[in-house]
Amino acid sequence: MSIKDNLKTIKDSLPSHVQLVAVSKTKPIADIEEAYAAGQRVFGENKIQEMTEKQQVLPKDIEWHMIGHIQRNKVKYMAEYVALIHGVDSLKLLQEINKQAKKHNRIIPCLLQIHIAEEDTKFGFDEKDLNELITSNEIEQLANIKIIGLMGMATFTDNTLQIRKEFKQLKNLFEKTKSVLPHLSQLSMGMSGDYKIAIEEGSTLIRVGSSIFGSRN
Ligand SMILES: *Cc1c(COP(=O)(O)O)cnc(C)c1O
Repeated sequence: MSIKDNLKTIKDSLPSHVQLVAVSKTKPIADIEEAYAAGQRVFGENKIQEMTEKQQVLPKDIEWHMIGHIQRNKVKYMAEYVALIHGVDSLKLLQEINKQAKKHNRIIPCLLQIHIAEEDTKFGFDEKDLNELITSNEIEQLANIKIIGLMGMATFTDNTLQIRKEFKQLKNLFEKTKSVLPHLSQLSMGMSGDYKIAIEEGSTLIRVGSSIFGSRN
């Protein structure tokens, strides 16, 4: 199947409240152009340098989402154009994004990454740290960022019960967080292997790479 066909199959299956982020990390410009020609405008990358190189040569109406782990000293390279940062996992990072956004007179939308998986290798806030952050007055001072939701990655496993349980936990936490921050609208969960479960459990943003572009090396 071509990139175009893969995109169509996935998009046709999505409820209208779910947005597809096409994860193009490691893939060449030509693949992104093919997806763009098929109408896709939202792309996700996990390395700031790679995303910036692609952003510079591709059409300017693409929305670039940073989905990977972020080093604070690299935020400045994407602050001018990034449309959504999914993986915010500390107050220090939020402060740096705010500082760089201010230089470009922008308000950068961000998602707070939550640690839901069993593996320790995945980044993110636990419930306690999340609560501390959202109730602190420090985030109110950050005028150039806007927290619009939460993001999480389930454990890498074939056990769909486990995956569903983790997505349910994240959805619950999302609802709780909304009682403090009522404007939250986005819940980023689900990848190629688990996005169908994620949608059933309340995802609004799925991040799909290999099911569109084929497997990565
Ligand atoms: C690579 C990546 C994805 C996409 O993974 P696929 O399994 O190829 O769909 C989604 N989210 C994050 C954070 C990623 O790093």
